[in-house]
Amino acid sequence: MRTPLIAGNWKMNGSLALVDSFARAFAERGIPATVEAALMLPAPYLYAARQAFAELPVALGGQTLYHQTSGAFTGEVSASMLGDCGARYVLVGHSERRELFGEDDAEVLARVKAALAAELTPVLCVGETLEERDAGRTEAVVLGQLAAVFDALAADERSRVVVAYEPVWAIGTGRTATPEQAQQVHAALRAHLATYDPTLAEGLRLLYGGSMKAANAAELLAQPDIDGGLVGGASLQVDDFLAICQSAG
Ligand code: 13P
Repeated sequence: MRTPLIAGNWKMNGSLALVDSFARAFAERGIPATVEAALMLPAPYLYAARQAFAELPVALGGQTLYHQTSGAFTGEVSASMLGDCGARYVLVGHSERRELFGEDDAEVLARVKAALAAELTPVLCVGETLEERDAGRTEAVVLGQLAAVFDALAADERSRVVVAYEPVWAIGTGRTATPEQAQQVHAALRAHLATYDPTLAEGLRLLYGGSMKAANAAELLAQPDIDGGLVGGASLQVDDFLAICQSAG
C-alpha cells in the first residue's frame, strides 16, 4: 500500500509570513492522517519552516541541490545543508531546472546520488514537452529520463526515490493532463520500474504534477498508478493545498 504524498512546490514564491500562515492553518485545520503532506520551499525559508512546522505532520523539502558535498561552489546548496535545515525531500530534475539552468541527465543523476548519500529522499521529475508529445515520443522521453537515473542506482537506492511525472505543457498553463493521459504515462513508468524489480515497482510512489488544483485533484488521484501530486501554483494558497490533501485522503 502506497501512502499518498501531496507535495507543494512553491518555486521562487512565498515569504516568511506565508510560511507562518501555513503553519497556523495546518495546526487549526489538520491534515488527513492517511496522507503525507510536504512543502518544497525556497532554501532560505527551510530553517524557519523547520521551527514553525516542528509539531505538525508536514515534511519539508528543497527545490534543488548541488551534487558536491562542500567547497568553492558559490551560491550552491548541498544535500546535507538542506537536511540540517529540516528538509527530508529534495526535487531533482524539475523541468524548470532542466530548461532554464541546463541540468542534463548526468547532472540529475549526480544530484540524486548526493541526495541519497545525505539521507534525503529525491523526488525525480520527468516529463515531455508538447513538441515531444505531438511527435509521439512521450514514453520514450520519460522512460529515458527515468532510466538515466535508475540504471545507475543500486537496488537499495532505487527504492528510496519518489518519481514525479510532470508534462511540461501542463506546468503553470492551467492545462492539466487528463486522468487517462496521466494514468497511461504512470503505468508505463511503473512497468519500466518492474523491469528492475516488481517489488520496487509496487512500492515506489509516482506523483503527478502540472496544473493540479482542488477542482481536478480527486479524479487524478483516483487513478491506480497516481500516488500523489506535485503541486505548484495551487500550493501557494493554503485552502487549495489543504483541499488537495483532502482529495487524497
Ligand atoms: P503548477 O501546479 O503551477 O502547474 O506547477 C507544477 C509544477 O511544476 C510542480 O513542480
